[in-house]
Amino acid sequence: MESFGNYINGEFVESKSGKTFPNVNPANFDEVVGTFQSSNETDVADACAAAVAAQKDWAATPATKRGEYLFKAADLLAAKLTQLGTDMTREEGKTLPEAVGEVTRAINIFRYFGGEGARQFTYQVPSERPQVLCYTIRKPLGTVALITPWNFPSAIPAWKLAPALVAGNTVVLKPASLAPLSAFRLVEALHEAKIPKGVINYITGSGGAVGDALTSNPAINAVSFTGSTAVGDALYRKVAERKLRVQLEMGGKNPTIVLRDADLNYAADILINGAFFSTGQKCTACSRAIIERPIYESLVKLLLEKTRSLKIGDGLKPGIHIGPAVDAHQLETDLEYVRVAKDEGAQLLCGGRRLSGGEFDKGYFIEPTIFAGVTPQMRIAQEEVFGPVLGLMIADDFEQAMEIANGVRFGLSASIVSKDLTRVHEFIDRIEAGLITVNLPTAGVEYQLPFGGTKESSYGMREQGPQAIDFYSETRTVYLRYAQ
Ligand code: NAP
Repeated sequence: MESFGNYINGEFVESKSGKTFPNVNPANFDEVVGTFQSSNETDVADACAAAVAAQKDWAATPATKRGEYLFKAADLLAAKLTQLGTDMTREEGKTLPEAVGEVTRAINIFRYFGGEGARQFTYQVPSERPQVLCYTIRKPLGTVALITPWNFPSAIPAWKLAPALVAGNTVVLKPASLAPLSAFRLVEALHEAKIPKGVINYITGSGGAVGDALTSNPAINAVSFTGSTAVGDALYRKVAERKLRVQLEMGGKNPTIVLRDADLNYAADILINGAFFSTGQKCTACSRAIIERPIYESLVKLLLEKTRSLKIGDGLKPGIHIGPAVDAHQLETDLEYVRVAKDEGAQLLCGGRRLSGGEFDKGYFIEPTIFAGVTPQMRIAQEEVFGPVLGLMIADDFEQAMEIANGVRFGLSASIVSKDLTRVHEFIDRIEAGLITVNLPTAGVEYQLPFGGTKESSYGMREQGPQAIDFYSETRTVYLRYAQ
């Protein structure tokens, strides 16, 4: 079994703790994908020191040249696409086509931000005074801590690493302990692309130990975090004391509204894609279907037919639609919410059980689950499950649908299925979500546009798109008189 090191100051090294932890395949827990370093505070300090030492030269490297390392790494990743997708399916459980799609996205992100080396626009405006130029310049922040979750183990590290690096920062990346291999592959590609030593550092280990030590290290100038709302809230309180720049991307409770004019077959496909693909383990997954009363019965019938035809199993096998939950803890959370929903009076229409027998006994497989009779106050309508669990809610009209959709503390993504242009524009105007989709699932965003939520889903500047550079750089303002 392969053992994967930390990456500190241009070298793959073992943790000073002398300890490792296993990365286990959630579709087959007899298979250990690899062992990773259980890092300690000394490793964190070494990684931060290496990043600080490399920062000045990296910041002085022309941004176009910084971008070239990303282009080169993207080519190296592309040459190994299927292997990297397989790695991801083995460590996280999503199906191979989903995993290959995600690695492709990480490659596109590297290429896109490689191109940002030649953009990173600033601006010049007219002065009130004669012979004075007024313009802005950008400066990197310094050394940035990147903390990422397991559910997009390649794309999320990529969409933090690439803008951070091209803007001239050095980084310390801590990936999620459940899926550290996909991020390792990005780091490996940057190493093979000969990025200067210390510019990127990668350390694995528990969030409690490594994450805390990292965000408390005085070398860190900013933190970009994606993960649960609970961890994000605690992290924010901690780094706020030091007035660090921080960006938090957290949970969601994303609705899809289906209006009475919708094509029901199309709407059912959108709901299934949003709610169940990737085992519902997307921050942008749909967990609330808000359906206008006149179409409710017909849509539910279609939804159940389609859901029952989904194939669940090891995502490496062809024809599988839904892989396992990522680990025993997430599976238990999913099943606990099934119990809670039943206790609160929701009606289980399909799914709700752990799958067993044969290959299922070796993985964390759960049936895609649909509840009817969900009311806005129920926990299943308010709390993020992060599993393949969809709650159906009936709305008498568009106004009630909007009220239900906005009646949660989250605001990551939201969608509507309708051909009614007026309603669609009302929805776009009034929905409380950072990502708004029309006649598309709640999930499925593109890297060239800003990404992020509103309300308690997100805090700080947007990720992805040209706006990502804003988080990773500081604007300075110049007043220059060219005559004395
Ligand atoms: P998590 O438990 O919050 O972990 C996220 C990362 O934080 C992991 O690397 C984790 O390390 C680390 N961490 C844990 N405790 C920490 C601490 N005290 N200080 C610093 N870092 C710490 O989240 P997850 O279970 O990996 O991911 C699922 C969550 O992410 C869901 O809520 C989902 O909605 C959210 N998510 C949001 C977005 C978005 O863009 N809005 C995208 C994807 C996922 P360990 O792995 O070692 O615990």
